[in-house]
Amino acid sequence: MSDERHQNLAVIGHVDHGKSTMVGRLLYETGSVPEHVIEQHKEEAEEKGKGGFEFAYVMDNLAEERERGVTIDIAHQEFSTDEYEFTIVDCPGHRDFVKNMITGASQADNAVLVVAADDGVAPQTREHVFLSRTLGIDELIVAVNKMDIVDYDESKYNEVVSDVKDLFAQVGFDADGATFIATSAFEGDNVSDHSDNTPWYEGPTLLEALNDLPEPSPPTDAPLRLPIQDVYTISGIGTVPVGRIETGIMNMGDNVSFQPSDVGGEVKTIEMHHEEVDKAEPGDNVGFNVRGIGKDDIRRGDVCGPADDPPTVAETFTAQVVVMQHPSVITAGYTPVFHAHTAQVACTIESIDKKMDPSSGETQEENPDFIQSGDAAVVTVRPQKPLSIEPSGEIPELGSFAVRDMGQTIAAGKVLDVNEA
Ligand code: GDP
Repeated sequence: MSDERHQNLAVIGHVDHGKSTMVGRLLYETGSVPEHVIEQHKEEAEEKGKGGFEFAYVMDNLAEERERGVTIDIAHQEFSTDEYEFTIVDCPGHRDFVKNMITGASQADNAVLVVAADDGVAPQTREHVFLSRTLGIDELIVAVNKMDIVDYDESKYNEVVSDVKDLFAQVGFDADGATFIATSAFEGDNVSDHSDNTPWYEGPTLLEALNDLPEPSPPTDAPLRLPIQDVYTISGIGTVPVGRIETGIMNMGDNVSFQPSDVGGEVKTIEMHHEEVDKAEPGDNVGFNVRGIGKDDIRRGDVCGPADDPPTVAETFTAQVVVMQHPSVITAGYTPVFHAHTAQVACTIESIDKKMDPSSGETQEENPDFIQSGDAAVVTVRPQKPLSIEPSGEIPELGSFAVRDMGQTIAAGKVLDVNEA
């Protein structure tokens, strides 16, 4: 395999601004579509007397997935640049995006924001930029797309860049770190090659900008946090909890603690990909065995950490939430299910402490009676059963959650402070 470093990339932006087309273009330009598949479609296209088959193939394929109702049409696609291997993670708008993103299933490191040059900043552009900031995206690359539609007009490009910069300033996103690129996903301008259609554009191509992204720092310095996904009994070994290490390192011989079950012991064995290892790192999916721990002592939703720095268990916590969709209003006393890492616990919103302007973060109202779709607020939450969760300022990987009710994600948030049990 390659020794390229890995990045999870989100592609965000208003509907129809060209996200899928851009992903298709990236896959195509980086040769990520298998050769035999291209060959097959080339033959078919030639038989039908159609030119420009290759890119069309990728797009047809994506369109077909969308028709089948596959919600992950552009998600989980992979492509490589010289520096990185990218995985496209779920994108906003997809059913489980927020849930996946904040439960760590598809935490994006960086994002490409697609803004159509003819349409400019649109409602979902705003929403996704705000969400990116809330959920801890490091850097945004902005593709000012569909430049072909505006005749590659430089002043149109500058206008959109300026509007996006205003938006960044409003939501408190660091605009200095952002790279702006004049693209046409459809025609392929400035995606892998500098385009002759934009002689006035002197910045990098999209692939160059992706290649130049800073490396995501692996959270190895934080204490060990390993949310338990399942607990098995394996003959010859005993009880084997499994899960993915979110932060820190697990070594054989470490003394660990499971919270909120509040049991612990010494790590006897660690297994990864059916092989025994001495230590495991963030991102590793492991099964392990702890001396003295039986199958009924621990459960899914527990978090494993060092015995001398155990996972935090919350009596109550305060959190910043964004209400995505709710048919009516949310008031104090509301008790939906909170999904945090592998835990699902009913939690009561005890008080709504303040309502904030979602685009600026400024306080709009202290102690409001209710919040509704589109609102951002600070709330105090009381889990109805013990829940291990961390302040997002200390361990972001364990500090966010999705709020689910009636089969949908109604809000997302991050933990500000934990009042320990
Ligand atoms: P998404 O909803 O953001 O994923 O947008 P799509 O990728 O599905 O694109 C929406 C429409 O815009 C489709 O008809 C695309 O063919 C078209 N489109 C996307 N990018 C470009 C572009 O750069 N130029 C032009 N002219 N059309 C584009």
